[in-house]
Amino acid sequence: MLQLTDPLTLLKGIGPSKAAALKKAGLESLADLLRYYPRAYQDRRTLTPIADLTPGENKLIQGRISQMAFTGFGKKRTLRLLLTDSSGSLEVLFFNATYLARSLSRDSDYQFFGRVSRRGGRLQMLHPDIQNANAAGQGQGWLPVYPLVHGITQKNLYNWIDQVLPLSDDLTDHLPAQLVQKNRLIGLAQALQAMHRPSDRQTWREARFRLIFDEFLLLFLGIMLRSRQSEAVGQAIMLPPGREIDEFLSRLPFSPTDAQRRVLSEIEADMTSPKVMDRLIQGDVGSGKTMVAAAAAYKSIRNGYQAVLMAPTEVLARQHAKTITGWFSPLKVSSALLTGRISSKARQELLQDLSQGRIDFLVGTHALLQADVCFHSLGLVITDEQHRFGVRQRELLVQKSKHPDRLVMTATPIPKTLAATLYSELELSAIDELPPGRKPVLTRIARQNERRSVYEFMRQEVAKGGQAYIVTPLIEESDKLNAKAASQLFAGLTAFFPDIKAGLLHGALPSVEKDRVMQEFAEGRLSVLVSTVVIEVGVNVQNATVMIIESADRFGLATLHQLRGRVGRGDRQSHCILISDAREGVAAERAAIMTQTNDGFLIAEKDLELRGPGEFFGTRQHGLPELKLADPVRHFKIMVQAQTLARELMQRDPELKLPEHRLLKANTEKLFTESGR
Ligand code: ADP
Ligand code: MG
Repeated sequence: MLQLTDPLTLLKGIGPSKAAALKKAGLESLADLLRYYPRAYQDRRTLTPIADLTPGENKLIQGRISQMAFTGFGKKRTLRLLLTDSSGSLEVLFFNATYLARSLSRDSDYQFFGRVSRRGGRLQMLHPDIQNANAAGQGQGWLPVYPLVHGITQKNLYNWIDQVLPLSDDLTDHLPAQLVQKNRLIGLAQALQAMHRPSDRQTWREARFRLIFDEFLLLFLGIMLRSRQSEAVGQAIMLPPGREIDEFLSRLPFSPTDAQRRVLSEIEADMTSPKVMDRLIQGDVGSGKTMVAAAAAYKSIRNGYQAVLMAPTEVLARQHAKTITGWFSPLKVSSALLTGRISSKARQELLQDLSQGRIDFLVGTHALLQADVCFHSLGLVITDEQHRFGVRQRELLVQKSKHPDRLVMTATPIPKTLAATLYSELELSAIDELPPGRKPVLTRIARQNERRSVYEFMRQEVAKGGQAYIVTPLIEESDKLNAKAASQLFAGLTAFFPDIKAGLLHGALPSVEKDRVMQEFAEGRLSVLVSTVVIEVGVNVQNATVMIIESADRFGLATLHQLRGRVGRGDRQSHCILISDAREGVAAERAAIMTQTNDGFLIAEKDLELRGPGEFFGTRQHGLPELKLADPVRHFKIMVQAQTLARELMQRDPELKLPEHRLLKANTEKLFTESGR
């Protein structure tokens, strides 16, 4: 007796090589196959009169074989049929199919399902599926079309799923019957059955609804269970209320914006509460998140804890270290920087200082995650540009202490409509205001043949004392090619404008060189920085006023917005010029959106629309289980309905301990472990 947990190799026709092919597509158990949903269906119910056929479609036809002949020789013979119905006739060809002649006979009726093609003005069907019209009656209904698995045919998938489907009958529905009914759902087994072998459109719709509902429900339950767990701990750090943050603010060279103040008071409330702080700070580029992070760290440090800040790139980590150290040293707070480039001797010393509590504040890159990085009393974990990290990486850092408070910062906001639902385990803060005096960056599109005037414009800005970034095209994520493109552009620029002091920055440079260039640009000794997207996130040079993005159509909206955020950080008028020849399509739309708004939230919404949620929720990025059918935008209503049920369930049974919820809990947990949580 087969079981859903059994490996696929137990099915007839799956040997080691097919199993390997399936595994590549993420299919290992019978249950995986059951959840391998069709991507489309072919309608095999409706007969099309031969006279109505058009090339390129898959159609079911029925008629009588009026002629039947072989052409060619030996095994290479081609079987040619003429199929005739009351409206006309069509040629049907089978290559190398001598064996077929035995199962087909002249003057009998058959149904053929296949793709209609045109050859020399005549319509044909090549290798259609055959069914005997009398035996099969009204054809086969809807035939599922599965997403391709390399090395596996549709027929294979169809047959194997046929073997697995009966097992779904024994599948106990994780939703208690009463909830199934209340939410107007159909049973799980029935839904799976109808998804793979729909009898009509209505049952298919109901099946989809149920499965989409389930995906959202388990997602929300997973998120809610997890946050319950952190609440249940009850051993969070609880700092006394105090004036530390005000003290920090009073020493800054600027006064905080109202938005920064508001977010800081939300943080203060979290830190002084008996719950673990788990807060997401969304703030557009340039809104001043760094200062907020530093202020929170200061509160933690003044109360005897250490704080850590993780940044996604070396350049950014160094910049943070420099900025924050500048604020902290007069306050007698000791800080340090840990990246992968540190010498092993220096690293040893640093780790010792850290574990003995001589370092209060540590900034770093992924290098922070290594196992031998141990803290003395870590109280606050901050991740900058959170979207660049996997959730698991953040977890690794959090695990370096018992129950540290957590703060994550991002300039790539999840669209508002979705944030509240998908990030329901995090508290949300928004810095929705820019420091005073900022002028919105003026953005325009330039065509390739206008490049000269663009660079001339840049030269004028530089002559007025500004600085400029030129971002070079993104070449298929290859560091080497990107470096080459940047070097070429740099060479061209220095040849053309020998009077401009320009620097070159790309990922393949040694880190000392990167630092030197960045440093020179930051201090104004270089006027122009030619760079790959290594400068994408976080870099802060207030005097920079021009951002030129070459081949702008290669970049996504989020990246374009991030890049533009490198200028407009001071009080001078800044400009962003997108060089692109795209006149239509997504690339043109992206460029147009950039010229219309500077609002990161709006851009995120548009990004979601353009890319579609499948990609937006490139799930690993957000650390949530994969949504196979569910689409948070298209199925927003179902999502809300599922969330409501999830909330009700958690209210009634916070840990899903009741017997009728056991299966629901088990399946939720399974889903979240599989997705690497
Ligand atoms: P982001 O939110 O993009 O990380 P940063 O933290 O890098 O932004 O801040 C951008 C710049 O604005 C920095 O130079 C920072 O010192 C400055 N800044 C932050 N807050 C204020 C403020 N309230 N008033 C003036 N300048 C500020
Ligand atoms: Mg930043």
